[in-house]
Amino acid sequence: MSDCLFCKIVSGKIPSSKVYEDEDILAFNDINPARPVHVLVIPKKHITSLATATAEDTLVLGKILAKANEIAVAQGSPDGFRVIINTGRVGQQEVPHLHAHIVGGPDPVGPMLKRI
Ligand code: AMP
Ligand code: ZN
Repeated sequence: MSDCLFCKIVSGKIPSSKVYEDEDILAFNDINPARPVHVLVIPKKHITSLATATAEDTLVLGKILAKANEIAVAQGSPDGFRVIINTGRVGQQEVPHLHAHIVGGPDPVGPMLKRI
C-alpha cells in the first residue's frame, strides 16, 4: 500500500528506530512512547487490522506474539509487558496497518482500562 505510513516504514521511505526485523515482521520504537518500553510490531505485508486479517495471516500474527517477549526483554522490560492491538473505530486504531503495541518497563504499566 503506497499511501500507508507503516508500509513506508517497512520500505525505508520513512525512517524508524528499528529494534527487530525478520522476513515477515518489523519492530520499531513508538515515536510517542507511553511507557519506558513502547515498541510497535507490524507485519511487513500490509494488513489493515485484525478486523480484516484472514486465515492466510495466521502465521504472521502468531509470529508477532511469539517474538513479543524477546523484544520486550531486549528493550528493558525483563519481567513482563502488555500487548495492545487497537482495532478499527471502536478500538480507536489511528494507523490503519495492523500493529501490536508492546508496552513495559521496569515498573507495572498500570490498570488495563479506565472504567466508564
Ligand atoms: P494506534 O492508535 O494503535 O493506531 O497507534 C498508532 C501508534 O503509532 C501511536 O502510538 C503513534 O505514536 C505511533 N506512530 C505514529 N507515527 C509513527 C512513526 N512515524 N514512527 C513510530 N511510531 C509512530
Ligand atoms: Zn501498510
